[in-house]
Amino acid sequence: MRSAPVALLAAYTVMASQSPPPPAPPADLIVHNAVVHTMAEAQPVAQGFAVRGTRFVAVGTSADVLRWRGPSTQVIDAANQAIVPGLQDAHGHVLGLGASLQALDLRDTPSFDAVVAKVGARAAEMREGEWILGRGWDQNRWPVAEWPAPGPLDAAAPRNPVFLRRIDGHAALANRRALAAAAITRDTPDPAGGRLIRDASGWPTGVLIDAAQSLVARQIPQPSREQLTQQLLLADGEMRRAGLTMVHDAGVAPDAVDVYREVIGDARFGTRIYMMLTGLNTGDWFTRGPLIDSEHRLTVRAVKLVADGALGSRGAALNEDYADEPGNRGLLVTAPERLYAVTRAAAEARFQTAIHAIGDRANHEVLGIFERVSREVPGARDLRPRDEHAQIVDATDIPSFARFGVIASIQPTHCTSDMPWAPHRLGDTRAAREAYPWRKLIASGARLAHGSDFPVERPEPLLGFYAAITRQDANGQPPEGWGPDQRLTRAEALHGMTLGGAYAAHAERDLGSIEPGKLADFVVLSRDIMQVAPRDILSTTVVRTVVGGRTVYEQ
Ligand SMILES: [Zn+2]
Repeated sequence: MRSAPVALLAAYTVMASQSPPPPAPPADLIVHNAVVHTMAEAQPVAQGFAVRGTRFVAVGTSADVLRWRGPSTQVIDAANQAIVPGLQDAHGHVLGLGASLQALDLRDTPSFDAVVAKVGARAAEMREGEWILGRGWDQNRWPVAEWPAPGPLDAAAPRNPVFLRRIDGHAALANRRALAAAAITRDTPDPAGGRLIRDASGWPTGVLIDAAQSLVARQIPQPSREQLTQQLLLADGEMRRAGLTMVHDAGVAPDAVDVYREVIGDARFGTRIYMMLTGLNTGDWFTRGPLIDSEHRLTVRAVKLVADGALGSRGAALNEDYADEPGNRGLLVTAPERLYAVTRAAAEARFQTAIHAIGDRANHEVLGIFERVSREVPGARDLRPRDEHAQIVDATDIPSFARFGVIASIQPTHCTSDMPWAPHRLGDTRAAREAYPWRKLIASGARLAHGSDFPVERPEPLLGFYAAITRQDANGQPPEGWGPDQRLTRAEALHGMTLGGAYAAHAERDLGSIEPGKLADFVVLSRDIMQVAPRDILSTTVVRTVVGGRTVYEQ
């Protein structure tokens, strides 16, 4: 101990008072010759680490960590590749991702005929009466850029109802079986907010616009237990490939929790799940109390509520009119008194509350509710309330995040997806002042956690990292970034995807950085995202994903 430098000692000593090497028992896994971005303040960059069981036992130079080698230690020479802590998505929909992977992927179909062919092939694998679901078609990419006549879908799948959503979710195609299941005839009127495209004789063709989609969508049966299991496993595979080691699942019905438990208890499942229950339906969870897992495989200690709609459909609740629709200020989809009552009940039952708030009016309401509950329920602040999205925030509300301990759970790719049209909704002045105000939040002392809201956006966290530091699209537009004063640094962006997420999940003692004693979650990348040109981040791939010392994905 006499001569060892302090930094090295820190690396060696999880078991604080024991003497330095040779350590026994040896490590199960050693990674060396890497550029490790640890996110640990004491040692931001290291060359490697050693893992015993599910946790890191040493972090340091290659020489340091190789001392932990034993006869059966797995040793990985990382060949100077970059390694970051396991990446978190603080807001995703795991079953939604699984369902989207189960559905036919029609994003690259070059014509309606190609859609019909895919439906026909799927129909051949299915039992009579099972629904064929698909998503992603876009008639603007077809030779004839018009609504198709869905007739050929009847021939392709005569025995199955078919329901195919357009890429933006604002229209769908249904075949005759699906229309019949919804009892849609010539006499069916267009519903409020929707339209049925009709042929010359007035019969709906099967093209359903906006709200008309739900006439058919609500006939689709709830997924069976077997389908839910398959959705979880499909999503897990996608998340591991993306380098996600933990996902905060933003709204799960209590009756699905058992399926999660069963699948996660099984060694096939890799990703850690931090679950938010659907806040308006929590079953008996408030009496039972939270499920806290010291290994963080499955944690249930949060509820999710929704304050308003989305900006794209002008449903986000704003303080002033939409710039492109005078008289409309969006809407609060859950009454504030209800949001308050559930938030308070959750706090009393020791559950964290996460509330979807996009517009400035919704954010103001939500911050007010968190303030009120923090005054009324002792210890409510320690539950770490979360504002999900925090997209459009009035300057006077920004300080409330830090003041009341509210986490801003942001989605950087929402910003870059929305930037082509968000200024139309908000007008340039309000957009510049309030939209996606990440730097203002950080400057105010707020804590940020980053997510994607998959499957609304793609689940790859590196896309979020790129969006956070550039505020540009994949082509590098606009050249300076949209609202460039609100861009994050790389260190801030990585923080939001690691320690920021861990804090939002009450898990920063075990996750979020590469430090002795923490769970051994890490991701090996093909390029060093902390160094390369921004455009090269988009082609950076995940080489290996490790959760608790176990490799769950390898390229
Ligand atoms: Zn969401």
